[in-house]
Amino acid sequence: MAEKSENILIVCAHSDDQIIGAGGTLAKYAKEGKKIHTYIISYGESSHPHYQEEIISSIRFKEALDADKVIGGNSVEFLDIKEGAFADHKNQQYIKEQLMKVIKKTNPIKIFTHSWDDFHPDHRATFSAVRDLIVESKLKIDAYAFEIWNPFTATNSNYPKLVVDITDSFPKKIKALHCFKSQKITLFTLLPAVYIRGFINGLDNHVKYAEVFYKFK
Ligand SMILES: [Zn+2]
Repeated sequence: MAEKSENILIVCAHSDDQIIGAGGTLAKYAKEGKKIHTYIISYGESSHPHYQEEIISSIRFKEALDADKVIGGNSVEFLDIKEGAFADHKNQQYIKEQLMKVIKKTNPIKIFTHSWDDFHPDHRATFSAVRDLIVESKLKIDAYAFEIWNPFTATNSNYPKLVVDITDSFPKKIKALHCFKSQKITLFTLLPAVYIRGFINGLDNHVKYAEVFYKFK
């Protein structure tokens, strides 16, 4: 088993969330020699006709691997839960069971995931599964939530804030986002937001670009 201090696990709902939420931080950690493992709950194919599902899944997998290469990550795994079904009781149990296996395998010191006040129900359900698992199993792992980007509700939290200076790794975050070619519209609307958010966080923290997280466990 790998040395605990070197391992970072990121758990997210869809295949680009890890880069949007923490791409700069993950690239920075990878450069420092840490091992980055990514666990993605859904291929996000439910909006497509059934016969296309397999094609979509393989495209999403390839894109996630390409993005992982850019940031210098070490593994990407998918769990194939259907979109919109994350919060289903049986699925929550299943997600937690599978997540436990991943944690045993990767032995992480830190987990990054979505926030409790994310507007997307699958993102919130991903957060719940991670938090419940850590609490119920008394795992000694520090857990961090991505900052929320909704301009109307800034994350209002008493949890300790983790600010990561991503000035050097920001170009890798942008390059990794470009790997998600099948999500063209997302990219088109997303990139400006990624720049603005990185820049505003940078201004707040006296660096050029930053990512912000909240330590909830
Ligand atoms: Zn998502």
